[in-house]
Amino acid sequence: MEGTIVGPSMAVGHRLREGRPPSPSRWDRADVVIVGGGIAGLAAARELAREFRGNVVLVELESDLGGNSSWGQATASAYPWGAHYVPLPGREAPEVVALFEELGVITGQDSSGRPIYREQYLCHDPHERLFLHGRWQEGLIPQLGVSADDRAEADRFLARMQTLRESTGTDGRPLFAIPVDRSSADPAWRGLDLETFSTWLDREGFRARPLRWYLDYCCRDDFGLGTSGVSAWAGLHYFAARGGEAANASSSTVVTWPHGNGWLVERLRERIRATVRRGCLVHAVREEGGRVRVEGMDAKTGEAVGWDAGRVILAVPQFIAARMLGEAGGGRGTGAVYPPWLVANLSVDRLPTGRGMEAAWDNVLYEGRGLGYVIANHQEVQSVVRESVLTYYLPLDHAAPTEARREASTWTWEQARDVVLADLRRAHPDIADVTRRMDIRIWGHGMICPVPGFLWSGRRTDWARPVGRIDFAHSDLSGMSLFEEAYIRGVEAGRRVLT
Ligand SMILES: Cc1cc2nc3c(=O)[nH]c(=O)nc-3n(C[C@H](O)[C@H](O)[C@H](O)COP(=O)(O)OP(=O)(O)OC[C@H]3O[C@@H](n4cnc5c(N)ncnc54)[C@H](O)[C@@H]3O)c2cc1C
Repeated sequence: MEGTIVGPSMAVGHRLREGRPPSPSRWDRADVVIVGGGIAGLAAARELAREFRGNVVLVELESDLGGNSSWGQATASAYPWGAHYVPLPGREAPEVVALFEELGVITGQDSSGRPIYREQYLCHDPHERLFLHGRWQEGLIPQLGVSADDRAEADRFLARMQTLRESTGTDGRPLFAIPVDRSSADPAWRGLDLETFSTWLDREGFRARPLRWYLDYCCRDDFGLGTSGVSAWAGLHYFAARGGEAANASSSTVVTWPHGNGWLVERLRERIRATVRRGCLVHAVREEGGRVRVEGMDAKTGEAVGWDAGRVILAVPQFIAARMLGEAGGGRGTGAVYPPWLVANLSVDRLPTGRGMEAAWDNVLYEGRGLGYVIANHQEVQSVVRESVLTYYLPLDHAAPTEARREASTWTWEQARDVVLADLRRAHPDIADVTRRMDIRIWGHGMICPVPGFLWSGRRTDWARPVGRIDFAHSDLSGMSLFEEAYIRGVEAGRRVLT
């Protein structure tokens, strides 16, 4: 088996904290500079491209655009390096619905106004399976060998979430919405942000082990930490915020592509008008004489580069924006937690064998170390998948984020590979035999996690406010990392600059 650890550019990124590289001697003029080519940065550039005819430059550290939604290509299929799906957007996210209409993901409406989705992009059947007691079952809520009492508890939990989904707060807004800031401000509910989700579950009598494993899995999947690491408000949000509908699919369906959300990155990239500068670390941004100076460094040559901009949008995480802004950053990023992740892409000659249900798009192991894997070419219209790419996800939550990050940064490829194989071997004894290549990415600061007390502390609102001519757009301003949050943050920043 071959493979390598493929970034992101940790050594270059860490130059931010090791003192400033030299300043440039030449400054290129730009009307707007967007720093960060993830979903938020691309969405801002896309919004500017609609009406703005000025000179826009988008600067990205990596050699590829997309950030956490970037993707790769193997012989068998394209594959995601991070984000791989978007649930059906609901009424509170009209910006995402409009994007999906523009991209042909939504092709029309039925007579009751429900969107019709292009079948090609709706996750094909079978959607998900779970490995427990030595075999695969359909669906992710444990069923095999689960007692009637434990099943009843899972049903009670789901019914409770359905009620919350349909409930509004004292201000008439939905209790939980995406984007987060369109949720009700009702203090009775927002107060739940101060305790952990596991405390809430204990208090409400949701204690059955299979249910608690499932809820833990869901929180790790979206937030990088389990039920005892995230706030009760955030945990409930996961289950009660999604209200999207489709005329031709159930509301729990997701849209997905072999590239994962890299497909959306490519569609956004085609629609921007900005000059894209990749492989460039921006390390300093400051206002000077009614303009903004953006200082960067070529990641390969170390050469200093600079822009003299009318406006700047920082579409990077807050702890990075803080470094760029220096004193003007004003405590930005304090208290925000970003757990590390490992993502592995396994090129396999054939799907590994296993007992029970056939392979699904999402394949999860009960009480596994990781979150299982997604089959990248599941969406292909062919009856038998042969060569394939399995995208395996592991939130590194075995230790506190700082410690886990430090440990994972020392891993060799062989050590990381063995972590992946040890987890998958339980369900697939032949996993090492079928895997030809395994490339691994360690996301040191994977995504922001809504730890207790963070979401409604007021910090996000402060950080999202423009500072002079410098504006901000990143999913971490929402306190949870989702496509919808990143996209809408970018659209809003683009509109503010236009105004
Ligand atoms: C493993 C993983 C799986 C995920 N799965 C999903 C999923 O299935 N669905 C979903 O909706 N969300 C998922 N997410 C969340 C994902 O983070 C968001 O959907 C979205 O991609 C975030 O976009 P963003 O623009 O806010 O941030 P980022 O993706 O963080 O973009 C920031 C960009 O700024 C660049 N940058 C940073 N520093 C500098 C610098 N100094 N100079 C220049 N450029 C710089 C970065 O390279 C990056 O491209 C996942 C995240 C991870 C880590």
